[in-house]
Amino acid sequence: MTSPVASIDELLAQARRLGVERQDALAWLAHACGRDRAWLFAHGDEPAPPHAHAGLERLAAGEPLAHLTGWQPFHGLVLAVTPDVLIPRPDTEALVDWALELAPAGGRVADLGTGSGAIALALKAARPDLAVTATDLSPAALAVARANGVRLGLTVDWRLGSWLAPLGGERFDLIVSNPPYIAGHDPHLAALTHEPLGALTPGGDGLADLAHLAATSPMHLRPGGWLLLEHGWDQAQAVQHLLTQAGFADVSSQPDRAGRPRCTGGRWQG
Ligand code: GLN
Repeated sequence: MTSPVASIDELLAQARRLGVERQDALAWLAHACGRDRAWLFAHGDEPAPPHAHAGLERLAAGEPLAHLTGWQPFHGLVLAVTPDVLIPRPDTEALVDWALELAPAGGRVADLGTGSGAIALALKAARPDLAVTATDLSPAALAVARANGVRLGLTVDWRLGSWLAPLGGERFDLIVSNPPYIAGHDPHLAALTHEPLGALTPGGDGLADLAHLAATSPMHLRPGGWLLLEHGWDQAQAVQHLLTQAGFADVSSQPDRAGRPRCTGGRWQG
C-alpha cells in the first residue's frame, strides 16, 4: 500500500519498480508537483501530491505521458493533446524542417490529416509569411487543433473533411501530411491502444492513404509545388515509386533522427 504522504524519492523508487521510464516518471512528477525537474532533485524528501502515485500506475499500464499531462512539446511549441489525436512525434519535426526549406516566401501550404494541428502550427509559428490551411476528417481532432491555434495565437485555416476534399479547387505551393501508415498486422500497434487507430493505420500494408495522397495531390498543387509525406522506416522505396508513378519529379527522401528515410517528397511540374 502506498501511503498518501509518500515522498518524491519514494515515488521515484516505486516508478522504477513499476518499470516506468525514468524520464517519464520525472516529467510526470514535475508536472504533478507544478515544479521543474531540478526542483524534484533538490526536494526528494518533500511529500508528493496525493494523485502522483495513480499517475505512475497509469504510465506503468502503458498510458502515454502526454495523456496524463495533457501536453506534448513539438518543434518548439507546446501542444494540447487528447485521446482524439495522434500524439505528435519528434520524428515529424524532420518533415516540418523539410517543408520550411521548400516553402516559398508568402506561399500557400496545406497540412492534411492535421490531428493536433502540430505540423500546421509549427509551420505557421516558424514562418508567419505562409498561409496555412489544415484538414482533418475528425471533428474532435479539428477542435483540438483549432484550440491549439487560438491559444498559441497562430492563424490557420482549419477545414473539416477527408484529405483534400475540403480544399475545393484551391492550389498550394506545398502539401504536407503525416497520414496513417503503420501496416495493419504490425505488432507495434498493440502498444498504441491509447491513440486513435484511424490516425495510425489504414490497415493492409499501410500504404493506402499514402497512395491516395500521391494520386490526388497534383490537382491541388501549383506548378513547381511540393508534396512531402511522412511514412514508415521501410516504406521510402514504395512511396518514391508512388510519387514517380503519379508524375512527380525530383523525388527524394529525408532521414529521421535515427538516420532512417522517413519522409519522401516530389515536385509537381504542372
Ligand atoms: N510515427 C507513428 C508511430 O510510429 C505513426 C504515425 C502515423 O502512422 N502517421 O507510432
